[in-house]
Amino acid sequence: MRIRTVIIIKNKEEIEIMRRAGKVVAGALKKVGKSIKPGITTREIDKIVEDYILSQDAIPGFKNYNGFPASTCISVNDEVVHGIPGQKVLVEGDIVSIDIGSIVQGFYGDSAETFPVGKISQDKVDLLKTTKKSLFAGIDKARKGNKLGDISAAVQQVAEIGGYGVVRQLVGHGIGREMHEEPQVPNFGAPSDGPVLDKGMVLAIEPMVNMGTHEVKTLPDGWTVVTADGLPSAHFEHTIAITDGEPDILSLV
Ligand code: MG
Ligand code: MG
Repeated sequence: MRIRTVIIIKNKEEIEIMRRAGKVVAGALKKVGKSIKPGITTREIDKIVEDYILSQDAIPGFKNYNGFPASTCISVNDEVVHGIPGQKVLVEGDIVSIDIGSIVQGFYGDSAETFPVGKISQDKVDLLKTTKKSLFAGIDKARKGNKLGDISAAVQQVAEIGGYGVVRQLVGHGIGREMHEEPQVPNFGAPSDGPVLDKGMVLAIEPMVNMGTHEVKTLPDGWTVVTADGLPSAHFEHTIAITDGEPDILSLV
């Protein structure tokens, strides 16, 4: 049996609202990126993000989402996603993934980036570079008439060149009035998989790439997802709209 997924198409006005939500998360990432240095705590990062989102007359999209206790998901080193901000102090050589959501006029924006803390090792530099590259390889396939699997396969192909593990248990998603809408956007798969992409679909594409195994596990806090082998992980995400032509990245400043 094939389960039919209902993908909500957004009109031009709705996409412009989503662009504003995307701009807020992009602005928050830009602002917080400048503050990341050894000695800062993840709670301080969360405060900078929350203050920025509120200053833009937007609502933090993650706060209280399914009970998440902060505005920002902050995941350090072997933490993949959904790390809870707290007293953890960042030190030179860490990498920190910052995932931010916003709500503007009832629509969500969602974007993430992994930042270096001070000087990081070359293998971490390579991991960040490859993960970002895999995101943009996926975005390039987000075109009307392509299949969703074209995105997934492009992400996987780039990410696995480095011998990295592409996380399978967590995926990207459609986004709109709900943070997570249909369809799921896996970071692995075959070009022939999934529905045909159409104008007005809005997707959050978000490769999570591990230096080692793709296997992950969730910590007892119920949120923080970490790599099974303890090796570092990176995460880059953009919210994009499918158009008649080029992919339209909504989460840009
Ligand atoms: Mg996100
Ligand atoms: Mg997302």
